[in-house]
Amino acid sequence: MEKITSLAKRRGFVYQSSEIYGGQNGAWDYGPLGIELKNRLAQAWWKEMTQLNDDIVGLDAAILMHPRTWEASGHVENFTDPLVDCKKCKSRFRSDHIPEENIAAKKCPDCGGELTDVRKFNLMFTTHIGAAEDTASLIYLRPETAQGIFVNYKNVIQSSRMKIPFGIAQIGKAFRNEIVTRNFIFRTCEFEQMEMQFFVKPGTDEEWYEEWKRRRWAYYEKLGLKMDHFRWRQHGVDERSHYAKDAWDIEYLFPMGWRELEGIHNRSDYDLSRHSEYSGKDMQYIDQESGESAARYIPFIVETSAGLTRNLLMTLCDAYDEEKVADKGNEDDIRTVMRFHPVIAPVTVAVLPLMRKDGLAELAQDIRKELKEDFAADYDQAGAIGRRYRRQDEAGTPFCVTIDYESKENNSVTLRFRDSMEQIRVPRAELSERLRKEIKEYKRVK
Ligand code: ATP
Repeated sequence: MEKITSLAKRRGFVYQSSEIYGGQNGAWDYGPLGIELKNRLAQAWWKEMTQLNDDIVGLDAAILMHPRTWEASGHVENFTDPLVDCKKCKSRFRSDHIPEENIAAKKCPDCGGELTDVRKFNLMFTTHIGAAEDTASLIYLRPETAQGIFVNYKNVIQSSRMKIPFGIAQIGKAFRNEIVTRNFIFRTCEFEQMEMQFFVKPGTDEEWYEEWKRRRWAYYEKLGLKMDHFRWRQHGVDERSHYAKDAWDIEYLFPMGWRELEGIHNRSDYDLSRHSEYSGKDMQYIDQESGESAARYIPFIVETSAGLTRNLLMTLCDAYDEEKVADKGNEDDIRTVMRFHPVIAPVTVAVLPLMRKDGLAELAQDIRKELKEDFAADYDQAGAIGRRYRRQDEAGTPFCVTIDYESKENNSVTLRFRDSMEQIRVPRAELSERLRKEIKEYKRVK
């Protein structure tokens, strides 16, 4: 993890928030490469969910919601973590994250000092809206994006004529006052989620649940990730959220061990029933197609809930590779290479003139201008060509296009592949088409 954190900072993926003031715990900033990676991960998910599914539409709900939302959702009452403090070293722990023996003996796992009793701690951030800081103006920062979907479900049916089964997808910020933020961007107080709520007829929920588990696994396979670093884990009855009828996590083998990447939940009719009760609005679906007497029911909801920023950490860990390369006779030369799938790589293609002189830089700029319309194309003319390749390897750029003297003569370029370091000659006129083909047919080898 240290290597990844250091590369992330050095290459501009992730910086500490407010670093010049010593950093802000639980918050991180995404640099030039980081924001590109984050956007591409979001786009890949969005495409998978909305573009490739006729029965899923998108939504972007506000972060600030009516406070009753969080009473109805159960978050005011139940969204708590069990907290203990060490009286001696002042460390703070989630009691469900340290060994039971320590809790039983009230013994700090770090220094052996005495632990306090376990107490409940609500994870929602509160603030006030308007000038008066009284309880009437109390408002929460949303701890999940899902509630924005539930409260809009009738609007979506009415405005876009969706019929059950159908889904609503959303990507957005969420906030949790996490007791312990550790492991870089894995668990942060401000993060982004990619959530999809699928509304189904009661009784068909278990079938749809299995279907969504299958689809979410297939999604990660499609991104060319190391699938032996993925596994399923079912939540035990006592660890399930207050709304869940069934809950499975897709876990990823991070450097600190297996951890949750995404949760697939059968939320039953809990959320819509509660919103119906708290708002006084009828949340039933009227099934027009069920014969003469139209059936009414509160739909069940199958949810897929993934962290976008946690997915970003996963892709950094998954892509990171160090490879021994024999370079200029130096047998022990190591190159660091980020093996991102071209669909998510921050830069898709880098255009590099072999020399700055003799019109090569101008020709390279011209080619880059052409590629920019369709690809995230970078340009680099600084330093020896070998070093420039290494810089692009570290940024995870899957393709480099090198312009040399031959390019001037016959309008061809060198196309270099990040993974194999293989180089081939391609006519300039065929370059875009070739890149598109390589992206589409990309297969990860290492
Ligand atoms: P945990 O039990 O680890 O606190 P959770 O089970 O409460 O997490 P969910 O509510 O299911 O998490 O959230 C769905 C997804 O949102 C998670 O799989 C994760 O990817 C992401 N996520 C949740 N909390 C955080 C956080 N504090 N920082 C970054 N991502 C988060």
